[in-house]
Amino acid sequence: MEIILTFIYVLFAIFLLIVVLFIDYYLATCFYEVACEKGHIHKKYLYICFFFCFAGYLLVCSLPDRKTDSIQKPKKIQFSTTSGHKWHCPNCGVLVPEDMIRCKCGYSKNTTDK
Ligand SMILES: [Zn+2]
Repeated sequence: MEIILTFIYVLFAIFLLIVVLFIDYYLATCFYEVACEKGHIHKKYLYICFFFCFAGYLLVCSLPDRKTDSIQKPKKIQFSTTSGHKWHCPNCGVLVPEDMIRCKCGYSKNTTDK
């Protein structure tokens, strides 16, 4: 009789372990999705969350948001390059590219030097 009881206990323990592992895997995939949304597509975040639980969750939480960085940075570069290579026409107020000496209105950039 005792053997059967211990057998049931062991079975129950294995069942609990499987349930815990499933919950752990589910949470790890959830956190991995968050990491992917932040722009970190590397699979290591899934394994870190799965094997180290809370350490992995904290790691994913503290990951920097790369996607917004990658969207913002080219915009900043484009803005700085376009504004850096343009001059303001005092006659009509239009921004003219640096390589164009004469504005569309006819105002010449070199006349300001005189
Ligand atoms: Zn002009």
